[in-house]
Amino acid sequence: MIALAPREFHLFQAAQREFLYLVPSAAIFALDEPTSAVLRAVTEQKRPEAAVIAALAGRFDPAIVRDAIADLLEARAIGYEHEPEASFPRVLPMMPVVDRAGPSRTGVIPLTTMVMNVTNQCNLACTYCYEYGEDKIVDTENGKKPKFMAEQTARDSVEFLLRESGSVAHLTFFGGETLLNFPVLQSTVAYGRRRAAELGKSIDFSLTTNATLLRPDIIEFLVENDVGVTISIDGPRDMQDKFRVFHNGAGSYDVVAPKIKELLKRHRTKPIAARVTLTSGTLDITRIYRHLTEEIGFVEVGFAPVTTSPGQAYAIGEHGFDSMLGQFRVLAQEWLEHTIANRHHGFSNVTESLEEIHKGVSKAYPCGAGLGLLGVSTDGDVALCHRFAGSDAHKLGTVRDGVDPEAQIAFLEKNHIADKTDCSKCWARPLCSGGCYHEAHVRYGTTTHPNLHYCEWIRGWTDTCLRVYGELSERNPGFLARFDRDEAKAEAVV
Ligand code: SF4
Ligand code: SF4
Repeated sequence: MIALAPREFHLFQAAQREFLYLVPSAAIFALDEPTSAVLRAVTEQKRPEAAVIAALAGRFDPAIVRDAIADLLEARAIGYEHEPEASFPRVLPMMPVVDRAGPSRTGVIPLTTMVMNVTNQCNLACTYCYEYGEDKIVDTENGKKPKFMAEQTARDSVEFLLRESGSVAHLTFFGGETLLNFPVLQSTVAYGRRRAAELGKSIDFSLTTNATLLRPDIIEFLVENDVGVTISIDGPRDMQDKFRVFHNGAGSYDVVAPKIKELLKRHRTKPIAARVTLTSGTLDITRIYRHLTEEIGFVEVGFAPVTTSPGQAYAIGEHGFDSMLGQFRVLAQEWLEHTIANRHHGFSNVTESLEEIHKGVSKAYPCGAGLGLLGVSTDGDVALCHRFAGSDAHKLGTVRDGVDPEAQIAFLEKNHIADKTDCSKCWARPLCSGGCYHEAHVRYGTTTHPNLHYCEWIRGWTDTCLRVYGELSERNPGFLARFDRDEAKAEAVV
């Protein structure tokens, strides 16, 4: 008789019951007692259906066990030992389409978010900055790229975005320090709105800034034009001033705090998000969160570990990742309690992960870079994302000539999860898919390498988010339903 064998899944407990996260379909099932018992029996030892029924005879009726086996087979949580596991073809998400105008880059994935580096200059000199530090990809100080994007290049970029996008387009302004080129940002918003209206499309705008250059007229412009804002800030004064310093070494906290408070007071139409870079020296996550929400007034705070090669003193080591995970779990629990009671909690890392879990995201690529998201450098070169903008090695085209389909296909072929052998047995791969290309480039010298230095952290955090999801699905399913209603959103850009 043919034995039943377990397939790929991750079991987790939430709300006093057991759940199953299936890999690679990324589906989630709440298990009842018989299915749970069958799964355990098959996981303990591969055995034929009759042996499973016999093993559970004291607890369940044979008909119930048969049904449970059928359910688990259908969900592909178990399978017959001799049958190969379902293979998931290495299909590229886009194919060149040929129409009367000739070959086009767009197949099934339109561009949704374009990140425009309006300058590669910055008035801060943050020690860990990936644009200026030792890990930089592009020489922004002595390289051949213009330091500021010209107005015409910005217009060409808007045309490119509107040509390549579907009915909804997101434009994110980025730097360097974005507000150093406020005049071009201002004229681009006006131009983008006019052109989108002419073409019957919708466009929205956002930017990332260090907040040092916010002033009343800029705040007014952002409010009037409904521009979304993400502020890079690391927390209370002692943490902010450790790394986020001016070129003369002076800390920036006292400059940015009042400006941010003013922005938060005035700009009420979109949540203003804080984006915190975590380093080995600034890992007091709870204190940072409390300060940014309670004392500064942010409604959303997201955290990300610094991108750096391992030799840097501020790189987060193994113990740092453990501490980070522990603190993330505490905040996630707090988030859960608030959400069950229908109260807002601003720890956005949970919200973002839950949205992906709810939508059953199973990624062939870690993020939208090179697909629905592209970065544009100051001279109009198009690259994978803003972090690679200006790098000739990661160039996919130009805003004037469009994306080179061959370069894009070559990138997609090289970076598919199917080729990351280290990830092939990892249950977290539907959500991680090897992790950020930029992190991989800095750590391993290539975008194709999985970020194996943070697997434990990724798996720990994914498990936490699955548990939160399981709890919510039982205790406040209405909250999860809102993810079904949310329209396509711009990807977070940091
Ligand atoms: S990088 Fe690590 S955690 Fe991510 S999918 Fe690969 S093996 Fe899993
Ligand atoms: S996750 Fe990394 S590669 Fe992807 S968009 Fe962000 S910085 Fe770029």
